[in-house]
This record gives sequence, structure tokens and C-alpha cells, in this order.
Amino acid sequence: MSRRESIKSARRGSVFVDVGGSERKSSLNEDDSLDKEAIVQTLISKEQRRRNERAALIAELRKEEDETNENEEQKIQEIEKKENIKCPYLDTIHRAILDFDFEKLCSVSLSHNNVYCCLICSKYFQGRGKGTHAYLHALDCKHYVYLNLHNAKFYCLPDNYEIVDPSLDDILYQLNPMFTQEDLKELHYYEEVMTKKLVAFRRNGSKYWTGLIGMNNIKHNDYINVVIQGLAQVPKFRDHFLVRTFAGNKQTSDRIMLRRLGELLRKLWKNHHYRPHVSPHEFLQSVVIESKGRFQFTERGNAGEFLTWFLNSLDKVMRKYEKNKESSFIRNIFEGEIEVTSRRIPNPELSEEEKRKLLQLPKYKFEGVSERQKFMFLLLDLPAKPLFVDPHKQIPIPQVHINTLLEKFNGQQEKEYKLKGEDRRDPLLKRFRVVRLPDVLIFQIQRFTKNNFFVEKNPTIVQYPVSSLDMGPYCLEDDGQEIFDLVANIVHDGEPKDGSYRIHVNHKLTNMWKEIQDLVVSDALPEMIPLSEAFIQIWVRRPKVKGQKRKMEVDMLGPPPPPPPSANPAKASEAKSVKRKY
Ligand SMILES: [Zn+2]
Repeated sequence: MSRRESIKSARRGSVFVDVGGSERKSSLNEDDSLDKEAIVQTLISKEQRRRNERAALIAELRKEEDETNENEEQKIQEIEKKENIKCPYLDTIHRAILDFDFEKLCSVSLSHNNVYCCLICSKYFQGRGKGTHAYLHALDCKHYVYLNLHNAKFYCLPDNYEIVDPSLDDILYQLNPMFTQEDLKELHYYEEVMTKKLVAFRRNGSKYWTGLIGMNNIKHNDYINVVIQGLAQVPKFRDHFLVRTFAGNKQTSDRIMLRRLGELLRKLWKNHHYRPHVSPHEFLQSVVIESKGRFQFTERGNAGEFLTWFLNSLDKVMRKYEKNKESSFIRNIFEGEIEVTSRRIPNPELSEEEKRKLLQLPKYKFEGVSERQKFMFLLLDLPAKPLFVDPHKQIPIPQVHINTLLEKFNGQQEKEYKLKGEDRRDPLLKRFRVVRLPDVLIFQIQRFTKNNFFVEKNPTIVQYPVSSLDMGPYCLEDDGQEIFDLVANIVHDGEPKDGSYRIHVNHKLTNMWKEIQDLVVSDALPEMIPLSEAFIQIWVRRPKVKGQKRKMEVDMLGPPPPPPPSANPAKASEAKSVKRKY
């Protein structure tokens, strides 16, 4: 019988006694006294047990407290020890070959998880525990210092202890360069006063200018590289990506592309480089995924198509990111407004009666129908290329001044568009006039035309001033302050099928023109720039002065060229219409 049961039965007994008959009292009394003793015994033992338990509990708690204190002390000691461990292998780190631009992928298992970079040979390996690829590499090659590419901690393998050493901070800066608002202020200061102070040095001692770094052409991604290099020279665009990381929990392909673009721009603008170039590998991968394979880095592409798609995609993801359905900073920077006036002409084959009927319709009236449209680029049409090419190439390459091309936007010149289907008989004529220009104006010069068989390229050279382009004459209202300076000029060389891209950029820090072609950054003479086959141009508006008309300070490159001899009368007349605006 357990103790509890004995107590219960004892109580029952006493109850029975109280209500029981008197005849059996004497015998019952004996039982009663026995029961009472048992009850007292059990109560005492119970009380004792409780007391013991409480004491044990208190003792236990005290012990635990001591242990946690000890643990914390141990931890602190360990950390102190760690900081004191001067890893003896730090001298073996080979900074000049370190490259964190490539995909974070184990070179043996091709896994993306838990990847470490060997700081001696710059190869990536998975894991750090016993038997992992990094561990085996440490044993095989005697390379002992590793960087976890995900949490940015340094480890010594195979001993497997963390290295905490401020002398390694420069490596973390290479892994993920960050800019503070102060850094940005400093950059703006130098850009405004255009001193030559921000000269950085590569580890091999050669000089380079901050913000002018070549980019790897992995296979055929030069068409993407030039677009990024061009946008990187637009401070309003660049600054957003220098100070913001666009981190977040959502891992959608558009947000990854946004983040990768930021990483790439920060790498282009960081202040110290181990290598003389930056590889856009991870960014390119995000582009391939986000464009669903439309833009590849293994196949040649069209920089104009890429830029159009890219800015629209960035605008879309930024509006989602900032939860603003209306606009994003992309639109604030690049978007302008244009007035398009269109009218139809009745087919000359129609009878007079039919023509008169059509002319009653608003869209056939001479004034036409006007509507306002938003734009991110202005398309400049080149005069048609001469049909007959001299086999001895004695005909000079046709030339045209940019003002001739811009007359498309003077509200007078009409451009004919061919329509399809039922409408194709009545030509459509459009006139354009700029309502509002964006702060950053992009021209796409229409060099490539698709005919039924292949893509053709128009080699006409466009002449332009590299600074002080007055866009006022093409605006509805000209306040005399629509002055733009060229910051980037993307050039296409060669045939449409196998040509290549390069870019001229105006480097604000030095106010010098540089040419970037893949990895090579070289000086460019401003007077040579208009002699190349310009394809995309990025112009930045000069800050407006309030309540004051800017005086025309236009340094053009000289008068437009005389009309080149040509078999094409249409082109000759185009060239004749060149007028000096200023
Ligand atoms: Zn190694």
C-alpha cells in the first residue's frame, strides 16, 4: 500500500468512526489511536519530503547560476583568446589575385551553400568542417586562410578557428564595398570642384581614376557592359545604388537584378581595387534570368534594345520596391514628355468626292490630332544610306549634324509612317515637339534597320558638340536653359552581326574624356569622339538658374559639313537643310 492510499483509508476509517454505533466503540478506539499515529507519521514524512525537495531545488538553481556565469566568462575568454590568436598564415594571403566578382559557387561540388574563398589562390570551396572541399583543399595545397562569402567571417583551416583581425578589413571592403552618406558627399564635392584628388592606386602600383574601371567581357556581353558603364557616369542614377543595398526578404528575379546592379556599381566606384577590372558575372546572370533568356552574355545583342528593356524593368521593380504605383526615381531621372501631332492623307487614287468626305474627319484635317506621350529616349533617324557603294570606297562616309537629326522635333517636319492592313493606303504623317525634357536625356541613333532578309547598318557619322547642346528650339517653351552636356557616348564598330561596342565617358572628377572597351580604359580626345559611329548618347542637363536666361554659350565643333557627294538626292536635300541655330 502506498503512503497516499494509507492516508486515504485512515481518513475513511475516522469518518466511519464518527458515524459508527457506540457498542463497537472500545475496539474501534484502539484502531483509531493506531490510525492517528499513522496519519501524524505520514504528515511529518510528507512535510519533510517537501522541505528536502525545496532544498534540493534551491541547491540546483544555485549550481546552474554558477554554471552560466562560468559559461559567460569562458565565452568572453574565448573571444579574447580568438582576438589574441595571431593567425600565423595571414602573410600568405594573395590579395592581388582575389576576385569576389564571380558566382559564389564551390569549384568542386558546384554547390551554392556555405561557400568559402581560399585567400591564397582565390578559388571557392564548400564547407569548413572535416572532409569538406575547403578542408581537403587546406590539407592538399597547404592554403590555410579562408573567407566565408555569405557571412564575411575569416577562418583558418583545417584548425577551424575564426580569425578576427582588423588588418583584413580591406578584404571585406572588396567583397562588399559600401558607401555612407559622408562618402557620397565627398564624391560630390570632388565632382563639383573637379579636382584630380581622387586618384586611387591598384595594388600593383598603377594609377586609375575612381569610377573608371574596365569590365570583363565574358563572351559577348560588351553590349551590356557599355550600358552599365554609361549609366554609372550619371550621378543621379549612380548615387541611389551607392548608398542603398536594396536588401529584403523577397528573392524574386527582378529584386535580385536590382541588388546585383547595386553591387556592380559600388564595385565600379569603390576606392581601392586589387584587380584592374570588375567582372559583371553575377549581374549578367540575374539579367539572363529576369529577361527570360532574351539578353544573354554568350550571344551578341543590341545595346539599344537592352537599355530600353533594362530601364523599364528597373522602373517596374522600383515601383514595387517603394510601393509607389505612379513613379520611381528611374522615371524622375529619364522620363520626358512629347507632343505627337498626327494626320492622315487620303489615298490619291480615291475620287474627289471620297477625298472630301475623308477630309471632314478630324484625323484627316491639316492641323491633325495631338496627344502627349511619355518617353525615356528620343530616337534620331539617320538620312538613308547611299544605295550604291563604291567598291573602291572612294566615296567619303556620309556625315550629318545632330541639329539636322533633331529637326524631327521642331514641330514642323513631318515623318511618314507606313501602316498595316486596311489603313495602309492612307499615309500617316507625324510631327513631334518636346513638352518637357528629363534631367538625363538619352538619344538612340537609329543605325540598324531590319529589312525582310537581314539587319542593315547605316554608317553615317553624326557630328555634335560634346557639351552645351541647346535643346530649347525643340521645346514647346524655350526658357533658354535647356542646355545639355554629353556624359556618355556608346559606339558600335563593325558589321551588325559581328561588331563590337565601346564607350566614351566624360569623367566628372577629372573633366577628361576616356574610352572604355572591355578591360581597357584609355584617354580620348574630345574632337575625335564625334568621328565614331555613335549609337546611344546620354546627355545631362546643366543646373537651371532661376529667373534668368542663360546666355548662349555654345562651343560647337564648327559649321556643319558640306553635303557629301552622293547618289541619293533625298539625302543631299537633307544635308542642305542644315541651319546654324545659334
Ligand atoms: Zn587555395
